[in-house]
Amino acid sequence: MRLITTKDANTPPPSLVNEKVEQERIAIHQDLGSISEKIYKGEKITINDIRDPYHGEEEYKIRYKLRRLFHNKCAYCERIEYKPDVEHYRPKKKVTGNQRNNHGYFWLCYEWTNLLPACRDCNSGNGKWNKFPIAGNRAITPPMTTTGNLDFDKCKANNPYLQSELPLLLHPEVDEPTNFLKLEWNGKLSALNGNNGKGQTSIEIYDLNRGNLIKARKEIIDNFKEGILLLFTGFRQSYIDENILQEFLKIYLANFESKSITSTPHSFVFFFISQNFQDFVTDNFPNFSNLEFQLLIESFPTIT
Ligand SMILES: [Zn+2]
Repeated sequence: MRLITTKDANTPPPSLVNEKVEQERIAIHQDLGSISEKIYKGEKITINDIRDPYHGEEEYKIRYKLRRLFHNKCAYCERIEYKPDVEHYRPKKKVTGNQRNNHGYFWLCYEWTNLLPACRDCNSGNGKWNKFPIAGNRAITPPMTTTGNLDFDKCKANNPYLQSELPLLLHPEVDEPTNFLKLEWNGKLSALNGNNGKGQTSIEIYDLNRGNLIKARKEIIDNFKEGILLLFTGFRQSYIDENILQEFLKIYLANFESKSITSTPHSFVFFFISQNFQDFVTDNFPNFSNLEFQLLIESFPTIT
């Protein structure tokens, strides 16, 4: 998971703005039955982008906007997903799992910050589905203003009204995942301590250590290591001298670091290694000489 900051909470797509009256009506009357998939996915449009695999086909507008904002990736596991579910971070009708609750967050049904693109695995029964564990007290009534209207500001994911629930699931538009998650060099994610176990709960509920994800992360790590070893083999066998090795390393490492941008699939791997490069080298190249270690560390681009 990565923190995505490009979705503007204050400017939802026009179709969601148009439905504010309806959202408020659903909130006041607890009219869960009339929550419409059509509205939170938006009307259908034709995809004009020729780079898109679905170019020329019809697509739900809000889903399309979400997957563009999240670079055609699942908001939780970062795998490529061109037909994501429009997922409600806070479930709209009921909460399942250990903290079962028949009161869902119906008043957030068309809230822009509550909608995320998720792959089927992350959003399945084995994954998040309708779970929403918290460490605080559940907000079970819609936030209203003194004039009896739905308080739309308090519907935003980062608003203290909802944050005071102490959600135990990372929100990719609110939380910086590196404050909660750690990458193991075998491709697994592990949790950092603290925050009521938010990292661990997120790994478990989003099922972030399922086989295909571990394998994808491990492949990135192993390929990276292989490239480094190959360059050092050339150096050890005297095909290249120290200066040339260092120039090659700089190019190779800068290329790796450049993939830390959020548009890369599984970019958390690139980002985490780049942020923790010295640890990565210490753990993965224990047989390197002091000189080799130094050359490798010094060749990594300075991250600003
Ligand atoms: Zn996913």
